[in-house]
Amino acid sequence: MDIQALLALQEEDGHLRALQRELRTILPKRRAEAKARLLAAKVAVDAATRENLDAEKEAARYERDYRRSIDRLSRAEQAAFGVVGSRHLQNLAQEHDRAQADIEKAEAGKAKADRELTPTQRRLDAARQHEADEQLAVQAVLDDLDARKRRIEEEIAKVTARRDAARANVPQDLLRRYDRLSLTRWPCAVEFNRADNVCMGCNLVQPPSIAQQVQKASKSDSAALVVCPSCGRILF
Ligand SMILES: [Zn+2]
Repeated sequence: MDIQALLALQEEDGHLRALQRELRTILPKRRAEAKARLLAAKVAVDAATRENLDAEKEAARYERDYRRSIDRLSRAEQAAFGVVGSRHLQNLAQEHDRAQADIEKAEAGKAKADRELTPTQRRLDAARQHEADEQLAVQAVLDDLDARKRRIEEEIAKVTARRDAARANVPQDLLRRYDRLSLTRWPCAVEFNRADNVCMGCNLVQPPSIAQQVQKASKSDSAALVVCPSCGRILF
């Protein structure tokens, strides 16, 4: 049997399989991973933006409380002028004290909100910077993947030409068996481990007669094709 021509074909088909696997499976996976990195950076910016916005609102709320309390205080002070009734005056004094207390509370709240605003602003800046860095890094990865894709496509064209030439050297009956096998078994032609009587394709021990047939086939081109009784692969 003409095993050398078949092995030459199998080698080129093996290259093709690896290239097509990279093109159809590995490159799209890497592309998706790169895009996921970018998405993660965007999500982090969104989260930091919301956090910062909340902190800004909180600071603005205390600012409003403060202004309102100041107004109450000045109204209480103005109302106190020209008031004669001691009871009314007392009420105004109490309102003045409450407004004063509210001012202090608002001031403390505003100071705390400002302290919290600084780190959220810093985190937002950091998230934006990270996103900008990721955009550059991911674009570089995508450019590399595009270049790799073009090289693979060129390589596939070359290997396909070599494969087609190799097919022309394999006898038709052997080619039909190879094509059929290649749908479910790869590689289709495997070495037979004659020392242990093991098919290197399925790793199962075979009867000694297989070793004898393989031995015979290796010495004569006209000998019958030997196939593994377990997996059907072509043995050499
Ligand atoms: Zn086998």
